[in-house]
Amino acid sequence: MNTRINDYARFVGDECIARIRGLAKDLQGTTLLHVNSTSTGGGVAEMLHRLLPLFSDLGLKTRWEVLSGTPLFFQTTKTMHNALQGKDLQLTAEMKREYEVVNRRNAERMDLTADVVMIHDPQPAPFIVYRPKKKSSWFWRCHIDLSHPNFDLWQFLLKYVKLYDISIFSSHKFVSDFGLLVAIVAPSIDPLAEKNIDLTREQIEAVYTRYEIPRDKPILLQVSRFDIFKDPLGVIEVYNRVKEQCDCRLVLAGGGATDDPEGEAFIAQVREQASCDPQIHILPPQGQTQLTDVEINALQRGAEIIIQKSLREGFALTVTEALWKKKPIVATAVGGIPRQVIDGKTGLLSDSIAGTASKILRLLHDRKLAADLGIAGYNHVRDNFLITRHLEDYLRLMTLITRR
Ligand code: UDP
Repeated sequence: MNTRINDYARFVGDECIARIRGLAKDLQGTTLLHVNSTSTGGGVAEMLHRLLPLFSDLGLKTRWEVLSGTPLFFQTTKTMHNALQGKDLQLTAEMKREYEVVNRRNAERMDLTADVVMIHDPQPAPFIVYRPKKKSSWFWRCHIDLSHPNFDLWQFLLKYVKLYDISIFSSHKFVSDFGLLVAIVAPSIDPLAEKNIDLTREQIEAVYTRYEIPRDKPILLQVSRFDIFKDPLGVIEVYNRVKEQCDCRLVLAGGGATDDPEGEAFIAQVREQASCDPQIHILPPQGQTQLTDVEINALQRGAEIIIQKSLREGFALTVTEALWKKKPIVATAVGGIPRQVIDGKTGLLSDSIAGTASKILRLLHDRKLAADLGIAGYNHVRDNFLITRHLEDYLRLMTLITRR
């Protein structure tokens, strides 16, 4: 269900809502177009679904277009994604051609006239070449971890990125001396989304029962797309170590994004790795395509400890969601995670298998610490990572750039 901006006053106060309305007043009637490469799966789609109705409620005329592509195109963009996050991979000449051809076809079929155009991530970056003559502002919004990009791939992409009026990153750690006008905007969650609303004990229990996960032992949970950078295989190793000292269950809840051709093969590998232990639960079960938002919400709320063992990470909305639910979390210090998990205050950080296992054991034994971290995490999200702050940042940037 679409929400209205006033609905958020109970989380952030009337003053914040008035500030947002004030910023939007100067942008009344502004047309805003978002373009990305998938409408389901992953954090970008998650945020756009929530932000769009609020932009409209504030008087901006907002559209969202999704790129369509060929299998080779998505294989190319996934290779780019992996290389930009540090893998030693290259694009072939055929892949580069496909990337450019598919972008041209999409750009030609879409109506790109808008006062502000926000292009998300590398997949549609070449759209800038097809910018209509009419005066407009073009933003490149990067959601991925660019802390260790493959040099050749980044140079290839940079020739497009340089044409934008501004580039927006989720963390200052991703920005080097690129010669770009840059803004840092942290992502956000929506407390009124089904993914995050309060649930009753019965609702939580019903989801665990539906997926035949007994809550007879502590539940460790990682929610993430089945992707090598989310390291589900590493999570299984962590669980194996924890289980040596404390009997528990592991739930890996994931699914794929429509723009990820590697997802299927990778999930098969994870299932294989988990097959010998009935206390590891991989969701959704085979044959079901994805979990609903309420189901993810219930799994998060029903878990004792949440893990986010990413090797690379843009921001990790899954961490934000867990903190909002006052859950103790053990996560790696990559990408935007340390902005959310302040070690020892809002959660625990660890980069190794052994360290992650030992911190989980500590939390399982020290319930007071676990509860205190959870409460501090909730406050941290309320003050920094809710959708209202995100809207405010975007409105400020739009005002700034459109006035330039
Ligand atoms: N998510 C989901 N179902 C899944 C896996 C993930 O709804 O099976 C959601 C998750 O709750 C979060 C988003 O997708 O809202 C993932 O965002 P994040 O920033 O953590 O990672 P990304 O996938 O964008 O790298």
